[in-house]
Amino acid sequence: MSTYDVAIVGAGPAGAVAANLCGVYGLSAIAFDREPGVYDLPRAVGMWDDVQRILANARVLDAFLPDTCVQVGAEFVDAGGQRILGIEMPAGFTTPNGYPVIRMFHQPGFERAVRSCLSRYEHVELRVAHEVTAIAQDHEGVSLAVRDRRSGKTADVRARWLLGCDGAASFVRKSSGIGWHSLGYDRDWLVVDVRLTGDVALSQLATQICDPARPTTLMPLPHHMHRWEFQLGDGETREEMEDPARVWALLRRWVTPADAEIVRAVVYRFHATIADTFRRGRVLLVGDAAHQTPPFLGQGMCSGVRDVDNLVWKIDHVRRGLAGDALLDTYSEERRPMAVAMVEHSVKTGKLIDAYAEMARGGPEPSAELREYAYGGRAQLPHLSTGLLAPERSQWIGRLVPQCAVAIDAATGAFDEVVGQRWAIVAARDPRGGMSAETLGFWESLGAAFVTVPEPDGPMLALLLAHEVAVVRPDRIVYGVSTSPDRLALLLGDAQSRAAAG
Ligand SMILES: Cc1cc2nc3c(=O)[nH]c(=O)nc-3n(C[C@H](O)[C@H](O)[C@H](O)COP(=O)(O)OP(=O)(O)OC[C@H]3O[C@@H](n4cnc5c(N)ncnc54)[C@H](O)[C@@H]3O)c2cc1C
Repeated sequence: MSTYDVAIVGAGPAGAVAANLCGVYGLSAIAFDREPGVYDLPRAVGMWDDVQRILANARVLDAFLPDTCVQVGAEFVDAGGQRILGIEMPAGFTTPNGYPVIRMFHQPGFERAVRSCLSRYEHVELRVAHEVTAIAQDHEGVSLAVRDRRSGKTADVRARWLLGCDGAASFVRKSSGIGWHSLGYDRDWLVVDVRLTGDVALSQLATQICDPARPTTLMPLPHHMHRWEFQLGDGETREEMEDPARVWALLRRWVTPADAEIVRAVVYRFHATIADTFRRGRVLLVGDAAHQTPPFLGQGMCSGVRDVDNLVWKIDHVRRGLAGDALLDTYSEERRPMAVAMVEHSVKTGKLIDAYAEMARGGPEPSAELREYAYGGRAQLPHLSTGLLAPERSQWIGRLVPQCAVAIDAATGAFDEVVGQRWAIVAARDPRGGMSAETLGFWESLGAAFVTVPEPDGPMLALLLAHEVAVVRPDRIVYGVSTSPDRLALLLGDAQSRAAAG
């Protein structure tokens, strides 16, 4: 039996993106999904800028970009439609990552496109209608029992690492004995996707209606689609809410069967949950198997894509002997607190909707702290703050390096295109100047890029003016920054011992 580097259980968004990144890194991988096709019910619709950047680096963004549209803004309104808080994006606005703040998409189409990209890689296989029914790990790897649901036959597969990308009910998490607990949000919402067939004037902003009678969300989607989400009241059941007559009654304020058709209407329980750890030996939990996020900020799938980006380069480093097994511990150390913070942020946004609805019923105004979790509020989305990061204080550490025009010797272009998936030492002038032969040799042995930013501007100018040099990880997270060659040497030495330890 041949041993794959990576076996992936579940080829939803997290598993399919993981399989593509394995392809990019040259890891041999096999992904299984128990269903014959992608899950076709309405789920994710919003994708943040950093995630678009990750997907571009996984070489899948272009495959679904024509089926997306840019979100032009978002607001909280009262039951009468009066704005409480909100934000509009200037036309053509992009963040320091180089992408619009949020792109709207359709999850089943996205999943199909990402899966189709796997045909590029001979070393990556996808098997649909294959259910993983048992896993067992030892010092060398993980054994999987896989049942072909079409033929009923079972086969054994062996891999060095297993990624549990099998969703919130994760069989991998349960069979690895990893605990799972609530972070305090559980409410039922009816989610309705509608195709507009007539000329209907709807807001182009993502809108949270803080209506005490029924908190409601509206979002424009690509291809004349629109999303509504209606919070269920006490005593309302899934069956009654999914009834088409009831759905039309809820939609009547905006659309009727004369100008729209219902594509799907499903009641979901919006959960906030987290796994106790994202790693048990050779088993690593990714995506909803590790954390479940209520969708008020469109962060659930995005968090899964961030997991993948954080993890796959580390597996590649360990496989190539560039780092010890301890590097994989940093996956859970880094991603779990960030996922918890993201879930908590989303929960606060959900609670703010309820608090404004409560205020309309005569309750108190939401606290100033909670109000910052509205769209356009000052509460910052979390970034990495633990793990493989330089032990110094800087606003840049743990964040993605700004996208900018760079040069590596004669090659020039955008940071991500020129650097690719490797360590980078970044400065306004060639960072090799002032580096000891030993330090230079270390970075060369890791295949690091020595990157010059000839004309820094925007956030990159601010970074280099403050610190002169940045050390960037293969997932484009700033590992550390420095203002002096001596400090840089210390920084690099520390990275060396961490990256090579274990
Ligand atoms: C209404 C709603 C709106 C949302 N909006 C957003 C949004 O705007 N933005 C956002 O980022 N996220 C959003 N989300 C969240 C997003 O849909 C999920 O986070 C995402 O689907 C999780 O991806 P995943 O790959 O981790 O898991 P899943 O999508 O659940 O995929 C798991 C896969 O594993 C397979 N599987 C399970 N067990 C096995 C097994 N034993 N063997 C083989 N295969 C197996 C399943 O068939 C499935 O394909 C939303 C969710 C909902 C419900």
